[in-house]
Amino acid sequence: MATVTVKDFQVGFPNDWCPGCGDFGILNSLHQALAGLGLKPHEVAVFGGIGCSGKTQYYVNAYDVHTLHGRVLPYATGAKLANPELTVVAVGGDGDGMAIGAGHFVNAGRSNLDLTYILHNNEVYGLTKGQASPTLPMGSQTKSLPEPTIQGSVNPLMLALASGYTWIGRGYAFDVRGLVELIQRAIRHKGLSFLEVLQPCPTYNNLHTKAWFAGKDQGGVPRVAPLDPSYDPVIEPDAGEGAVRARLGAFVVEATRGGEPIRTGVFLENLSVPDLGERLAQRLPAYRHAPPAHRVVADAKGRS
Ligand code: SF4
Repeated sequence: MATVTVKDFQVGFPNDWCPGCGDFGILNSLHQALAGLGLKPHEVAVFGGIGCSGKTQYYVNAYDVHTLHGRVLPYATGAKLANPELTVVAVGGDGDGMAIGAGHFVNAGRSNLDLTYILHNNEVYGLTKGQASPTLPMGSQTKSLPEPTIQGSVNPLMLALASGYTWIGRGYAFDVRGLVELIQRAIRHKGLSFLEVLQPCPTYNNLHTKAWFAGKDQGGVPRVAPLDPSYDPVIEPDAGEGAVRARLGAFVVEATRGGEPIRTGVFLENLSVPDLGERLAQRLPAYRHAPPAHRVVADAKGRS
């Protein structure tokens, strides 16, 4: 195959997501990100969980696996360990990843294997008629709930931090340009990367809609905005404990702020932890650990 284009990653059959679903923005961004990295379809494997987002892999022309509920990360882990040259992307929803899959989410962080996990966060179980997911804030009542939820919510970024993910970011489904860059940075990171994507579900989440994110009810002031450019997410390989603590302190402030806007961007890029493949290669010299094809592309900071 000569030059790779977005079309190489697209498929030619119909999509059954609801009109206006944020899944479309995430899918388009994934197509563009993979093509922009110069990857070829046979170099990529996409794993989907259960839920509306769990159909994503069918709409990407690459190796794809539809896994069990909450089990997308173990499947992706197995594939990456078996073929380290493969670029592995796991995709799932907030219900899939933060409830039944939460144990796998935490333990994947301990391994820091070189793969990317994209979480579609729409705060509901869309595929099963809109029940509250673990990310719906306490007291919220979406249109399919008979009463406001009385349970607290999980902050996926904070859980990723506590679990040891070495790259953590957040994007918004309809900011495709920003999302393409975030997905590319997540894939280039050598280690486990976690990208939360805020995603409207126009069918069941009538609270956090596309208009809400755009701030239509507050004079058009968007509720999502990029992190301040002065925010530095990078922890260098030789960073001392003090530098690490300072960086994590800034992370917590940005990831938990209660006010507007909700920040998007890269919150953490920790280069001080070797990925599992490197550690395995030291323990087992026979373990093949060739860098994936995308590593020839330098990232925003010039690393390659
Ligand atoms: Fe998208 Fe919601 Fe429809 Fe599922 S139910 S396809 S998340 S709009």
